[in-house]
Amino acid sequence: MGGSRRDTAALAQRLLAEEAGCSRKDWGGRLPIALVYPNSYYVGMSSLGYQTVYRLLNSLPDVVCERFFLNLGRGNAVQPPTSLESQRPLDDFPVVAFSISFELDYIHLVRTLRVAGIPPLSAQRAARPLVIAGGAAASANPMPLSPLVDGVFIGELEEATTALVDALWKAAMSAKPLEELAGAPGMWVPALGSGQRVRRAWVRSLDPWPTATCIWTKNTELGGMHLVEMARGCPHLCRFCLAAHIYRPYRQRTAEAVLALAEAGIERRLTIGLLAPSLADCRALITVLEDLAKRGARFSLSSLRPDRVTRELLGLVVAGGGRSLTIAPETGCERLRKKLGKRFDNEALLAAASLARQAGLQELKLYFMIGLPGEDEEAIKQTADLLRSMRQTFRRRLVVNVAPFVPKPHTPWQWAAMCPQHELRRRLTLLRQLLAGTGVELRVEDIEWAQLQAIFARGDQKVGEALARIGNPSKRSVRQALTAAGIDFDEALRARRPGEPLPWEVVDAGLPRSYLEKGLPSSAQELDGPLQDKL
Ligand code: SF4
Repeated sequence: MGGSRRDTAALAQRLLAEEAGCSRKDWGGRLPIALVYPNSYYVGMSSLGYQTVYRLLNSLPDVVCERFFLNLGRGNAVQPPTSLESQRPLDDFPVVAFSISFELDYIHLVRTLRVAGIPPLSAQRAARPLVIAGGAAASANPMPLSPLVDGVFIGELEEATTALVDALWKAAMSAKPLEELAGAPGMWVPALGSGQRVRRAWVRSLDPWPTATCIWTKNTELGGMHLVEMARGCPHLCRFCLAAHIYRPYRQRTAEAVLALAEAGIERRLTIGLLAPSLADCRALITVLEDLAKRGARFSLSSLRPDRVTRELLGLVVAGGGRSLTIAPETGCERLRKKLGKRFDNEALLAAASLARQAGLQELKLYFMIGLPGEDEEAIKQTADLLRSMRQTFRRRLVVNVAPFVPKPHTPWQWAAMCPQHELRRRLTLLRQLLAGTGVELRVEDIEWAQLQAIFARGDQKVGEALARIGNPSKRSVRQALTAAGIDFDEALRARRPGEPLPWEVVDAGLPRSYLEKGLPSSAQELDGPLQDKL
């Protein structure tokens, strides 16, 4: 554990002094809510979702919401949980709300509670404090959290904020807090029965709900940026993609709304970071970029589809101070890419690389996956061939991030197996060999952590019981805790059979099973080698 409570309080004051936009309220007559990001301040303050929940809760006059992090610096050492705003300890708050975007942060949820002296198992707390969770990972499959939290909010908070706070007030004052909590829309309360199914909450239109950085600090990953959400969801619905399936339907902001949100960043002379799962599909994109460029603002774009990359678009990227282009081809094999749902070919990727070179960009960042259902040795060779050609075309820095495929709930590939570790290593070794001496920079995500992430993503309450036992956040300790809870890794990572009950079916994400199953047969038939054996 890093530092005493007094050290942490002093650090909180220093960070506060370097922030703008923080909300500080008197506690009198208000419901105090601790909003915890179970990772470092450095990571958490770049989360637009976390900042948005903070702003929504503090927009209500009867709430005082204060921020907590695993630690107030970088890394994952746990500090005594101390609120940024008033430097109070976590157990002063009657409501503790965790914002969880990534499954592996479940480990830090448990550590935060434990260090605060709050029992991590909900059965040992009697809802005092009331511990709830929300965010993309928790909304997709709340089941692993079921032994740990009193409720999970499923979906998007905006339209549900007032009703949620009403339910929290009633729960904080009631002898039956869980019954009151269950009255909030989108709230799943595990102790009230496993048969309860919850509808995901979502907003109809984005424009009335501003989603942009509201607290600015230089002490975070994206410290020089003002983040603005342009769209939510994605029209392409690739078969593996959680963001597209959990944030349905696809909704876009108007150019006027995006530019209004960018204003606060322009005033602060920050780079405007425009965010959307598939930015190039936003109708307002060119209008927004032209306006920002005319005003001399700097801007940065999240990844673009290669078939939408034009000379005009890259000209605007350069005018906005951009030096790099990001694309996610996922694989070099066109057959497999089509199967994923990405409808562009390698020619489009080479054309985008060529345009990027002509526009004077200095770096091309590419995202790939390995261990995809249907992937074979030939597919890896095609990925290497594509990367070699892109490097020859671009002739500048080519950075390639490779992540193992992790099957995610509510996607058509939720049933697929996770490729075994030895097979992932074999394919990565082959890729490395094929790219040796080409100048392509390969960055590979940790295979063991990806495997643990897959177990958490499709896990049930047994995963939560294991989480409560984790001693330290090392891979070894996590593996031991899972094994001690009776979780068999092969069983957890195998393909699921059509018709088999799935833990995350407690969430009604709005997609009929028949839609998801349409994605299954073709991918299942094409599974190779060790994957096919497990179907
Ligand atoms: S295009 Fe990107 S964001 Fe859209 S569904 Fe496919 S992977 Fe997801």
